[in-house]
Amino acid sequence: MGESLRIRTYILPLIFIHLSHLMSSAFGIPKSSTTFLLPKLQNLHLADRLRDDPSAIELALSDYGNIVKEIPAAVLYPASINDIASLIKFAASNNASVPFNIAARGQGHSVRGQAMARNGVVVNMNSLRNNRNGNGVKVVSSAAASSMGRWYADVGGEQLWEDVLNATLEHGLAPVSWTDYLHLTVGGTLSNAGISGQTFRYGPQISNVYEMDVITGKGDFVTCSPIKNTDVFYAVLGGLGQFGIIVGARIALQSAPKRVKWVRMLYNDFSAFAGDQEYLISINNGRDEQKHIEVDYLEGLLLMNHGPLDHWRTSFFPSKDHFRISSLITKYGIIYCLEIAKYYDDSTLNYSVDEELQVLFQMLSFVPGYTFEKDVSYAEFLTRVQIDQEQRVQSEGRQWDDVTLHPWLNLFLPKSHISEFNSGVLKDIVLKRNITTGLVLVYPMNRNKWDDRMSAVTPDEDVFYTVGFLHSSGFDSLEMLDVQNKDILQFCYNAGIKVKQYLPNHKTKTEWKNHFGIKWETFRERKAQFDPQMILSPGQRIFNNN
Ligand code: FAD
Repeated sequence: MGESLRIRTYILPLIFIHLSHLMSSAFGIPKSSTTFLLPKLQNLHLADRLRDDPSAIELALSDYGNIVKEIPAAVLYPASINDIASLIKFAASNNASVPFNIAARGQGHSVRGQAMARNGVVVNMNSLRNNRNGNGVKVVSSAAASSMGRWYADVGGEQLWEDVLNATLEHGLAPVSWTDYLHLTVGGTLSNAGISGQTFRYGPQISNVYEMDVITGKGDFVTCSPIKNTDVFYAVLGGLGQFGIIVGARIALQSAPKRVKWVRMLYNDFSAFAGDQEYLISINNGRDEQKHIEVDYLEGLLLMNHGPLDHWRTSFFPSKDHFRISSLITKYGIIYCLEIAKYYDDSTLNYSVDEELQVLFQMLSFVPGYTFEKDVSYAEFLTRVQIDQEQRVQSEGRQWDDVTLHPWLNLFLPKSHISEFNSGVLKDIVLKRNITTGLVLVYPMNRNKWDDRMSAVTPDEDVFYTVGFLHSSGFDSLEMLDVQNKDILQFCYNAGIKVKQYLPNHKTKTEWKNHFGIKWETFRERKAQFDPQMILSPGQRIFNNN
């Protein structure tokens, strides 16, 4: 803990008052009433793992979005999962007299304060990761496990997906379903869904978990699976941290491929782009009787000439092609980029993955001459966002998550409305307003790879799209982007497009009820069962909004 102050009986109230003043004036946030909470915490055996020094508080009051600030009373740096259980038990018990809120903070990669706890305690999951000393991922690849077709890894909920990748690759194995970026925690993505270009084929990460260890909102340690404590299992997956803190997860693994052909193709016509995407995801979904070429990963993104934050310029495309790509964008306004990957390894050397790709290209309707390929290792492919970001910030001479704000909007929308969304939102709002922004992702998924018993919500149709507006902005353009996000949602509402927000940000109970739809009653009942005092993850503002 170095120089930092620990909570000590005699100085604590003074420190906190001072800190509270400092933080309040720095962030314009009203002073909290937490001076009443902290003395109670000092009597806990884990008091020396609770910190309220400025560096601990500063980390916990912010997140990747950089928009919301909520000051916690203290931050728990757990040495073990028992520390987390004790804290929750105490908060839920009569000894706390008034229950206080607790939020697990994975990497704080939320964008609207979801991992914050105003006046409560934030659990810094990274501390658990450090205390596991590199032993947070245990791979089970025994003959017995493989004969059951169930290789798996037992991983701590605080582990990063990158840790999981590195540890499993040592055994020639890897999880089947990923996120684009791997510096996210297992518990954090399982609380949402965990989606990427593999989702259409394997389902989201929540569909690839065999078992979990969870500390519920009552402080109980529960091992749950589809056959044991099933209610906890299905509640927690996609449960936005409302029912328990995930401290362990058994993740499905498969044999890891060695290499990846990574391809981008450009389209000027949205229906051709969407048609090809839907065709490609239907092949792996068992609807295709003929022998067509399967892909392992599929996403899509927009290319626009929207200023310095145009991601396409710095990343994938060779600089010698920038001019002709830019000309194409200037001509059409928006260019749609289909991104696919095909995995291959030594066992597939007797046929050519390149030949397969050539056959595939003939079936697709991209602009002739506009395909771009890379051949990379599997690990390079999975860490592509990290590599890209590092290169970008190095070239710009800044920290990649410094003072940039991220007013992201992520939507799931039914396939039947995707053309309407293209003309009404992508062209009429995003392109016309021409606000300098970040990446816009557009790609479809198969709903039958999602499990409706889980808390995560999707649109009703068999195929739905995810559209991610991954804006980066300064304070100057935040309001414009917030207005744009609102207008996008309003367009969908007016057009009767039943969108669901992914990584949702709702403000009122009515909005949350609409979000969960027919799942709301179950969600509410499970909250009453597993976190009756409504302690956990207040930053989602589901049960503790006004
Ligand atoms: P946090 O932001 O710290 O927490 C998120 C929520 O989960 C909070 O409510 C928190 O209290 C709760 N929580 C955290 N840990 C636990 C736990 N162990 N048990 C129970 N609840 C917990 N998402 C995708 O699906 N696909 C992507 O490709 C993707 N890429 C991203 C790229 C970047 C650069 C960023 C910033 C985010 C990305 N995300 C993506 C979103 C990401 O999944 C969410 O931010 C998610 O919350 C994970 O982040 P985290 O581990 O930092 O969790």
